Amino acid sequence: MVQILKIDNLSVAYGRNLALKEVNLGLEAGQLVGIIGPNGAGKSTLLKAMLGIVAYRGQVLVGGQPLAKVRNRVSYVPQKEEVRWDFPVTVWDVVMMGRYRRIGWVKFAAKIDREVVGAALEEVGMSKLRDRQISQLSGGQQQRVFMARALAQEGDIILLDEPLTGVDVASQEVILKLLTHLSQQGKLVLMATHDLNVAAEKCDMLCCINRGLVAFGKPAAVFQPEVLTRTYGGKVLMVNHNYASADRLANSSLDGQNGSGLTTMIID
Ligand code: ADP
Ligand code: MG
Repeated sequence: MVQILKIDNLSVAYGRNLALKEVNLGLEAGQLVGIIGPNGAGKSTLLKAMLGIVAYRGQVLVGGQPLAKVRNRVSYVPQKEEVRWDFPVTVWDVVMMGRYRRIGWVKFAAKIDREVVGAALEEVGMSKLRDRQISQLSGGQQQRVFMARALAQEGDIILLDEPLTGVDVASQEVILKLLTHLSQQGKLVLMATHDLNVAAEKCDMLCCINRGLVAFGKPAAVFQPEVLTRTYGGKVLMVNHNYASADRLANSSLDGQNGSGLTTMIID
């Protein structure tokens, strides 16, 4: 399999605070990859480095090309807290922003752009609210709109920072279904999450982060007491998981396993 995203020796520092140290990672297309780790572990920082919106040392290659050359192949759904929701803009406008890198600020949106935006809104179930101000939406609806914007960008790589946090259950389901679908279509979907059940059950691969890469592997390999203890610092209670992704992955050692769907708990 070709690695669509390759990260070599990536380090990020904020002043004297070394947020990420020497991360090496190669990710294949067609997978839903979870990034897990405690608060302040560097999950958001890793995504931002992949977008080139924080300064980093090392290299990020997309399809073998330096990031700067292929930025339009990478879509991003930021953490909810980082968006100014009081900005006076409609649902339609937000999603159309996903097209600007293609059409440029000075040109007008073409029919194809309007079609792509319309289809993206349809896909996340937000067509009816297209003229609504984003400030008037619920958290789940806002997150769906940002999902639609990422879809409208038509990137090969979709990065999402905690897309399920502060979102109602129905929207969570819509978003997760869409992310699974996109990965099955051949995109690389990379999602930071603190929902370990989702990580275990929906993701094909997991990156455990704690100021560096602690582990990278399939959920069944990562959900081991030793790995989670190193990731979260000795405060983990392990119970059995139902690895749905194992069924999707050919040759998985867990094929046919009938897990009982219990939980992993992080004890602070
Ligand atoms: P996570 O997303 O896993 O919670 P972050 O990537 O947000 O972690 O943060 C990693 C570390 O970098 C933390 O120590 C955080 O305080 C620090 N940090 C993140 N963003 C900034 C910033 N803009 N300026 C200074 N320090 C930052
Ligand atoms: Mg974060």
